[in-house]
Amino acid sequence: MEKVRVRFAPSPTGPLHLGGVRTALYDYLFAKNKGGDFVLRIEDTDTARYVDGAEEYIMEALQWCGIIPDESPKHGGPYAPYRQSERRDIYDAYTGQILKTDYAYLAFDTPEELDAVRKEFEERGDVFAYNFATRQRLRNSESLPDEEVRSLLDAKTPYVVRFKMPFDRTMHLTDIIRGNFSVNTNTLDDKVLVKNDGMPTYHFANIIDDHEMKITHVIRGEEWLPSMALHVLLYEAMGWEAPQFAHLSLILKPEGKGKLSKRDGDKFGFPVFPLQFKDPETGNVSAGYREDGYLPDAFMNMVGMPPTIVRSFRWMK
Ligand code: GLU
Repeated sequence: MEKVRVRFAPSPTGPLHLGGVRTALYDYLFAKNKGGDFVLRIEDTDTARYVDGAEEYIMEALQWCGIIPDESPKHGGPYAPYRQSERRDIYDAYTGQILKTDYAYLAFDTPEELDAVRKEFEERGDVFAYNFATRQRLRNSESLPDEEVRSLLDAKTPYVVRFKMPFDRTMHLTDIIRGNFSVNTNTLDDKVLVKNDGMPTYHFANIIDDHEMKITHVIRGEEWLPSMALHVLLYEAMGWEAPQFAHLSLILKPEGKGKLSKRDGDKFGFPVFPLQFKDPETGNVSAGYREDGYLPDAFMNMVGMPPTIVRSFRWMK
């Protein structure tokens, strides 16, 4: 049987929320229960949201919680590098590959042009989506004649690569936790896969890395459930087998509506981060359980399982 491999893939956009710790714990316990590997991958392709020190924070927080990766930027491993910003060459090759299929196209629309269309839709009381219904009236390699696309490329016009969402397909999907559900592709839009600086977006980099790193189970927060259809279609476009998916419930606000936020923590007097974090830009300090005097065992007991037990799973094969 194929070896179980599970990844935790945080973005270094700030400190790791206790909900993130819980996701990492489930990833880790599932992998260890199956005699598999637990991989930590840093998803840092969104340079605009990158926060200095967040990656180190994530590593230290996981260490404090007893969740030690088998493979990570720090621990290395057979599928290194584990930091997406260092995997650009890999993504470039796959961008070339998907552009040869009928699942992707080049889009030359400027942000101003898209804003104008968005406004036009809003004025009519509609919501704009870049999709099957609007694709032909926008500036892309699906709507423009080949010579025009070539001259735009020759003139070094900036472009993004978009996913060409198949028309009117009902996808039957299975989530390990939620069971079967269906999505019609006409409800989804043509997501950007590669930005105009050549960097892949989360969606594209994520499926490439999960494939390259031989991930068998994607266990992540439920906010990613709406992206599952796109991800399954991306695997299809690349001719790869998709992993299995499990979307975990989130830790909610005390009133039950929406994700638990730092503001809820401040209001009710408890931290939402395992360790204290000082934002290098704003200087704002977010409280942490460790600095507030909680032992890691107490914190992890609240999240699901104390580190003394979590650590003992590490060598289970
Ligand atoms: N980088 C994404 C996040 O920070 C990962 C989502 C996933 O696990 O696919 O939430």
